[in-house]
Amino acid sequence: MATKGLALRAIVFDFDGTLATLNIDFSRMRKEVMDLIAAYRIPLPPCGFRDLLVLELIAAGAVLVTQHTPGREAGFIAQAHTRITGIEIEAARKGALLHGTRDMLTALQREGVKTGVITRNCLAAVQTLFPDIDQYAQAVITREQAPQVKPHPGHLKTALDRLDAAAGQAAMVGDHPMDIKTGKDAGVFTIGVLTGYSRRETLEQAGADLILDAATDIPAILT
Ligand SMILES: [Mg+2]
Repeated sequence: MATKGLALRAIVFDFDGTLATLNIDFSRMRKEVMDLIAAYRIPLPPCGFRDLLVLELIAAGAVLVTQHTPGREAGFIAQAHTRITGIEIEAARKGALLHGTRDMLTALQREGVKTGVITRNCLAAVQTLFPDIDQYAQAVITREQAPQVKPHPGHLKTALDRLDAAAGQAAMVGDHPMDIKTGKDAGVFTIGVLTGYSRRETLEQAGADLILDAATDIPAILT
């Protein structure tokens, strides 16, 4: 297998769909932001707007608010984040860590592999699902702590810096093509998992170096 002899010193995980059940209603989050944009009496946004990921939709919405009602963009951004954070925390309360997540992270740490988590989710939602996460991961970088979020490789590099790990000795694990792109752009080994958003073919097309059924399979491939 491609991982034999792979000297991984650090592994950084996505959160939702990788360590926890994926139950966030992304389309509801986008609709909430679209409704908020409409409440600012902004004319119909450009074609393709609805297809943006929610954080990018908020950023694009803020640009429109600035153009149409200068000075109100900070309020718009705050209101938008309140709306999406509410949905994320509600989802976290109904969600759960995937079976075996804590044991897997413990096994990696026992092998001397540092572990981190990067997520576009908010800290409150992550802590709702995984209150003791700091005992299992040495770097947890939610969107609040990331200067730029995934798919920007800076999100992953922030985690690697915190772990004091070089890209050549690290891996990124995630359920979404975005996680694979982030890892590739940061120069790390990429592992796709099938516990969340994507089918195997999608992760293959994204260029994942390895695809596993679940993140909990990782300790077994390192030995
Ligand atoms: Mg995910």
